Amino acid sequence: MKLVFLGPPGAGKGTQAERICKRFNLAHISTGDMLRYEIAQKTPLGLKAAELINGGHLVPDEMVVGMVSERMQSAEHGFLLDGFPRTVSQAEKLTEITEIDCVVNIDVPSERLVERIVRRRSCPDCDIVYDIGELENGEVCRQCGKPLVIRKDDTPEVAHERFHVYNERTAPIIKYYEDKGLLLTVNGDKSKSEVEQEILRGLGKADA
Ligand code: AMP
Repeated sequence: MKLVFLGPPGAGKGTQAERICKRFNLAHISTGDMLRYEIAQKTPLGLKAAELINGGHLVPDEMVVGMVSERMQSAEHGFLLDGFPRTVSQAEKLTEITEIDCVVNIDVPSERLVERIVRRRSCPDCDIVYDIGELENGEVCRQCGKPLVIRKDDTPEVAHERFHVYNERTAPIIKYYEDKGLLLTVNGDKSKSEVEQEILRGLGKADA
């Protein structure tokens, strides 16, 4: 299975991607996670990317295309792309590289998104994202126990820039994939399990 998850910042792409990848043993290829890893390691690419990411801007296509195509090649059981493509030109490059089975577009009303973003806490190691409402035992990761952090681009100011960038540069991809007959739009404004079930139904895997 080769999937793409699309949606504005805060739609729940990463959360749903985790669930679907676990279920079908897919490689979770998240360009945001890969870039944050480069930043943490202070690599030359990470140093270049940090300022752009922290300001809510996209990094140049050439920074992500090579990284993604390398990871796709080593994914034996299929993959799920989370955060890529983010521009029509990235989508065109992806079409040149491989055939995608389905593009899941997670739709959430814009007024709900800022609230979701400012409420989220992330594990710097596992990249798991939590809502503060589900952290009964303090702000630590349930998987590895590390203290959770607020991503630098999860402030209301940067989030607004990210929405602007999403509307200008990423939203046009929806039509690109609709025209190819690959788009599955799901309502992301429900509980995590309900959204997952809707994705599974849309993929024809409701009994998986
Ligand atoms: P995400 O974790 O998907 O929200 O990505 C965090 C940030 O990484 C984005 O706001 C961009 O600055 C950068 N980024 C992630 N994926 C891409 C991409 N495919 N193209 C350009 N920039 C990206």
